[in-house]
Order: sequence, then structure tokens, then C-alpha cells
Amino acid sequence: MKNCSAEWDHPFLQQVQTQFESAAKQLSLDHNVFQRLRTLDRALIVSVPFRMDDGTVRVVPGYRVQHNDVLGPCKGGIRYDPNVTLGEVSGLAMLMTWKCALVGLPLGGAKGGVQVDPSPLSRSELQRLTRRYTSEIINFIGPENDIPAPDMGTNEQVMAWMMDTYSQMKGYSIPAIVTGKPVVIGGSLGRKEATGRGVVFTIAEATQRIGLKLNHSTRVVIQGFGNVGGIAFKKIEEAGCRVVGISDLHAAIYNPQGFHYEDLVDYFSRHKTLQGYPGGEEVSSFDFLTLPCEILIPAACEGTITAEVAKKLSCRILAEGANGPCTLEADKIIADNPDIFLIPDILANSGGVIVSYFEWVQDLQNLFWSETEINQRLCEVMKRAFDSVIMMHEQKKVDMRMAALMTGISRVGQAMLARGLYP
Ligand code: NAD
Repeated sequence: MKNCSAEWDHPFLQQVQTQFESAAKQLSLDHNVFQRLRTLDRALIVSVPFRMDDGTVRVVPGYRVQHNDVLGPCKGGIRYDPNVTLGEVSGLAMLMTWKCALVGLPLGGAKGGVQVDPSPLSRSELQRLTRRYTSEIINFIGPENDIPAPDMGTNEQVMAWMMDTYSQMKGYSIPAIVTGKPVVIGGSLGRKEATGRGVVFTIAEATQRIGLKLNHSTRVVIQGFGNVGGIAFKKIEEAGCRVVGISDLHAAIYNPQGFHYEDLVDYFSRHKTLQGYPGGEEVSSFDFLTLPCEILIPAACEGTITAEVAKKLSCRILAEGANGPCTLEADKIIADNPDIFLIPDILANSGGVIVSYFEWVQDLQNLFWSETEINQRLCEVMKRAFDSVIMMHEQKKVDMRMAALMTGISRVGQAMLARGLYP
């Protein structure tokens, strides 16, 4: 029991619960609903043994957590990271519940993870690990109750192996078991780009509110060059802005003249890191996040924007591509800084789950939409969500994070009251 509670004991889960408590207080949330939403519906811990290419066997822990399914089947990514824990995944699952509700999807929140660094693994090792993890959680997930997707350290190939393993074990093809898979096996057009595209969509909305133009004088700094950071880079460059800072796990680089997306992709594909890129100066991660810029996009992991960083931020817009990049202490400093317009994670990065929902719907009906349709619907949903957060922000005079949380949580609360408590 002691070990079990230690598993849950993670600062990120505590942070998400603290945010929930503040939002619930502002909303005067029904006490019974509060009690139920503060905890997780269910969680599964598994051991994942897999064979390495040299014949030895490695065993790593894996998790899948469902926070709440009052609005519909649970939805959330799978993370492969050496530091992932049950507590971290639980905090992320809770955020997914608020995110799905905020953008009006009929879905609940889940998250999964495997405690492993995928980068040194060969393709066959990664495949064996993924197939075994999928078979370990097979009775917990399903197209009607819990649908995984990619997150940090996983991608559409991992989703393809998950979909194949699930289908093989059930005896027929079930594309709707995961989203973010390749288009050729039932993935959705536009899914790979959806999160980054959505981040830039919300930035464009924010610029209209603060009177900032998106052009070559608009300097952008992006932390993370993976799915979210990479696509956000591409889209913000297409919008005419100048990306002066970009980073990955190994290096943060700065060039006041700006980087070019294609050059970085080319370098990254050859070196698997941004380290050593000749067109920029390497800076410390603190200096990187506090570089003078108009737009800062953290798109890596939780907690990179600490109070120390927050005090020195010099951006006009802070668009959270990552989930939970700001600590609670940083949040207070940012909320008190009238020069920074915060686009909170559950709004800024919701494009991923929105198009994942479209993918799931297309798979269930075996009817696929064009990329134009997908992008149009994505923008409609995000615009509605953005406007509802602004309305809450203005009417209740709360900061943008609180406004987003209150919008999502109040919808989940209403659904819970309507359904009541079983038995
Ligand atoms: P990814 O694995 O594709 O990329 C992560 C990037 O961050 C990599 O460039 C990695 O090198 C870098 N990174 C990791 N740790 C870092 C650190 N401590 N400092 C600096 N850089 C670091 O992951 P992703 O899918 O782009 O996800 C990034 C964030 O966005 C996560 O918080 C994830 O939960 C969130 N998110 C992802 C999606 C999605 O559709 N993939 C959707 C919503 C939110």
C-alpha cells in the first residue's frame, strides 16, 4: 500500500489537483461532484517484458489511467519516457478530461505511458515493446471505452503497431482502437499536423486581441522540435514570422536573423539532434526561455517554466504547446504580468485531440473526409473554444488558465449531475 501511494505521489498530479480545486471553488462546484472529479476512475500498472536484439530481456513499467468518462469514451496519448510515472500520467489524464470538455468533444480523459527511453532502441526492439505493452493493456482499452493516441516519444508507427496487435488479438481489423495512425490504415488526413496547426491558430486569435501583427518582425521562440514544436515552427513560419530560438533535449539554439524550417529538418534527419547546428549560437535553457521575443511556445514537457524563468519572461504571447509547462509558482507570476497573454495548454494544444476525435468518427463510420474539411472543422471547434474561454475570462474576471479550466470543468460537472451516481 505504501509503494502504491508513492506511485501516485507526483508533483504534476498535485499541481493539476490544486488547479482543479481552485477552479472548483470559483465555480462553487457541487461538493459530491468535486469529490468524484478530484480522483481518478481507474488505473492499470503493468510490467512490460521485451526482448532486446542481443537476446536479453528487459522489463519496464507501463501505465494506463482513465480519469473520467462521464462525457464519453476516454481519450489520451501514450508517452514513452524514462521518467514517466503513474502520478505523472494521472495528472495528464485529468487534464485530458478538462481539455475534451472545453472543446466540446463527447470524450473523457485518459493517458498512458511506458517508463523507457525510446531513442536508443532499434526499430525491432521498439516494435516488440509496443506489441507487448498493447497486449498487457488490451482488456483496459477499446474503441468504445478508451482510445490511445501518440504523445511524447511515440508516433504514428507506434500507433500502427498498437492497432495491429489489438486487431490480431481480437481476430479482425479495428482501426478505431487508436488515433494518430498512418492514413493508409485509417488515420485521418491532417492529424499529424493538427496540434501544431491548432497552436498557431490560437496564436493568431490572440494577436487580434492584443494588436500584434504576424510578420517578419514577430520573433518566435519554440522549446521542443518534435511533433508539436516542429509543426508549430512550420506553421508560424508560413504565417510570416521569424523563429529566432529552437531547442530539443540536447541543445537550445539562437539566431536573431531567424532559422528556416526545412534547413533544420534536414540537419535533424541526419544528426537526430539540433546540437551542433552551424546556423545558430548555443544558449543555456534558462537564457533560451527568457530570450526577447513576441511569441514563446513551450512544446516539450511539464515544468520547464519555473518561477525563476517566469520572472524574466520577455514575450507578449505564451502559447502552451506542451501540457503543463508552467509550474504553479510560475503561473501566479504570469497571471500578474499584464504584458503576457497566456494561451493555456488545454486550449492551445487541443488541436491534436480534436482531429483524433475526427479520426475516430471516420473509422467508426468507414467514411473519410478531405483534408480541407478536417482543417475547416478544426478551426471552427477551436474558434468556439477560444471565444468561450475569453468570455469566461472577461465575465468572471479570472486569468486565462482559470477561465479555460472553469469552462471545461463546469461542463463535466453538469454532465455528472445529469447522469447521477450509480447505483
Ligand atoms: P515529441 O516526442 O514528438 O517531441 C518532444 C520534443 O521535446 C523533442 O524535440 C524533445 O527533444 C524535446 N524535449 C523533451 N524534453 C525536453 C526538455 N526537458 N527540454 C527541452 N526539450 C525537451 O513530443 P510531442 O508529441 O511533440 O509532445 C510535446 C508536448 O506536447 C508534450 O507535453 C505533449 O503531452 C504535448 N501534446 C502533444 C500532442 C500530440 O498530438 N503529439 C497533443 C497535445 C499535447
